[in-house]
Amino acid sequence: MKIQHQINRLQLSCPTPFDVEKILMQSEKHQLLFRAFEEHITYCPKCFRIVRKLHKFYEILDNEMKNEVSPQIVAFAKAVYDEKTQDIKNE
Ligand SMILES: [Zn+2]
Repeated sequence: MKIQHQINRLQLSCPTPFDVEKILMQSEKHQLLFRAFEEHITYCPKCFRIVRKLHKFYEILDNEMKNEVSPQIVAFAKAVYDEKTQDIKNE
């Protein structure tokens, strides 16, 4: 397909680390972008490092999730969540 071919050859400029995370999290939804980014990290050491750091972060998070959570952390997370929900409602 022509469109896909053009996107595959597109040289992506470096996305922000936040966008890198979004690209990785939504790989199913935006497959062409994901594939273009996959190609991008083969020649961009900067983005490759970001991907590795994100991977490490989620690995640690995943392990932490398996541990018993202290009540203080639950209370803190709830406070942050409530605050965020409040912000969204006020927008
Ligand atoms: Zn890059």
